[in-house]
Amino acid sequence: MKVNNTIVVSIGQAGNQIAASFWKTICQEHGIDPLTGQTAGGATPRGNWSAFFSSLGDSGGGSFVPRAVMVDLEPSVINQVKSTSGSLFNPANLISRTEGAGGNFAVGYLGAGREVLPEVMSRLDFEIDKCDNVGGIIVLHAIGGGSGSGLGCLLIESLKEKYPEYPVLSCAVLPSPQVSSVVTEPYNTVFALNTLRRAADACLIFDNEALFDLAHRKWNIESPTVDDLNLLITEALAGITASMRFSGFLTVEISLRELLTNLVPQPSLHFLMCAFAPLTAPDRSKFEEMGIEDMIRSLFDNDSVYAACSPMEGRFLSTAVLYRGIMEDKPLADAALAAMREKLPLTYWIPTAFKIGYVEQSGISHRKSMVLLANNTEIARVLDRICHNFDKLWQRKAFANWYLNEGMSEEQINGLRASAQELIQSYQVAEESGAKAKIQDVSGETVSRSSSMDDPRSTMSLRDLVERRR
Ligand code: GDP
Repeated sequence: MKVNNTIVVSIGQAGNQIAASFWKTICQEHGIDPLTGQTAGGATPRGNWSAFFSSLGDSGGGSFVPRAVMVDLEPSVINQVKSTSGSLFNPANLISRTEGAGGNFAVGYLGAGREVLPEVMSRLDFEIDKCDNVGGIIVLHAIGGGSGSGLGCLLIESLKEKYPEYPVLSCAVLPSPQVSSVVTEPYNTVFALNTLRRAADACLIFDNEALFDLAHRKWNIESPTVDDLNLLITEALAGITASMRFSGFLTVEISLRELLTNLVPQPSLHFLMCAFAPLTAPDRSKFEEMGIEDMIRSLFDNDSVYAACSPMEGRFLSTAVLYRGIMEDKPLADAALAAMREKLPLTYWIPTAFKIGYVEQSGISHRKSMVLLANNTEIARVLDRICHNFDKLWQRKAFANWYLNEGMSEEQINGLRASAQELIQSYQVAEESGAKAKIQDVSGETVSRSSSMDDPRSTMSLRDLVERRR
């Protein structure tokens, strides 16, 4: 069976800093030296290494190269990656320019971003040509700045236009005033959401507001830095991709496409959140291990999610839990997850939307860990926070000239704001409809229960409900 190959594109400061941390971790998980791309004694790397790496030269003396393209409109972060990653990355795939995007979506999307796009696309073509079987493309970027948001969106649109068949997962960092004081971030974020809504197959939100709080509360860090937040993100990303990189218990690996098919019940509802357990501080993780039941409880705790919201107060449209660690724990984990599923606020369209994956290969910092991916209606609350901040700026047209001078019009900006509102409303409708269904449930009305989470009947009824409300 062919392994699904996944390519990771990282854009802008946050995207590339996260990518650097992610690649270092997964090199270690596969037994690949993160400075040379080689393995000890020329051994074959662990697991389905070709999911995320290509090989150079004969297996044996050869080395393994991340399927990575890294790009920024300014040079410092890419230079930092070059100086700290030895000969791991293909240097032709590390692309930068000199000016930066000045924290402006329009520069990334309409200006300097367009100039660098052909080079980035040509490196992606090269990486795609090297794959036996493209499983999908992961885009790492923050959408509060200029490069990750503007160029990131331009790239996603170009990729989907050229390769509509490959699923694209955007992993998007949302801004928080606790981490950055740049006031125009709500503008950039709202502008980017339109592309993430229309062109990406799914978007996994990493909300700096929640991550800052998690690092502060769970890791006891007085004033967390972006490196701390990136460690949290890396743990989740390593957990999510583990099922693509290692065969599961009695199963083959799960491709990005399968994962998204399970998590996206209908195309307009494709914004995901995640949680990780255990959230033990990295320096204590070797000494403190969490039991399986506690881990599952913590995973679904409103306090653990990587987005500033309370998923247990919303509705879960779909859920995937990926466990890595000791396979003897599987019966206990199965039972605890089944009990947890009973407690979750689900919707009646997809009541069994709950996928579980098991991978025996542990992560670097924990012998046992779990990651939750959820499509939950509380994402509307997170997006609403950003839109609220956008409105506070836009009603006074604060910094409007930044964007108007780069070629955007007021009409376009109003259109992009309206698009974000439609997205929020889609989730609000899904939540209200789910809540109504719950009342019907209690009143004894029979509700048809599908046995598969991607049952086309459930997809149809959800789409109908959303459409009807428009
Ligand atoms: P760009 O290079 O123009 O895309 O700008 P950035 O990537 O710096 O995006 C700005 C946003 O990303 C702000 O909200 C920052 O707080 C956030 N940010 C910058 N660097 C990091 C990082 O390494 N990790 C995380 N989680 N957020 C970051």
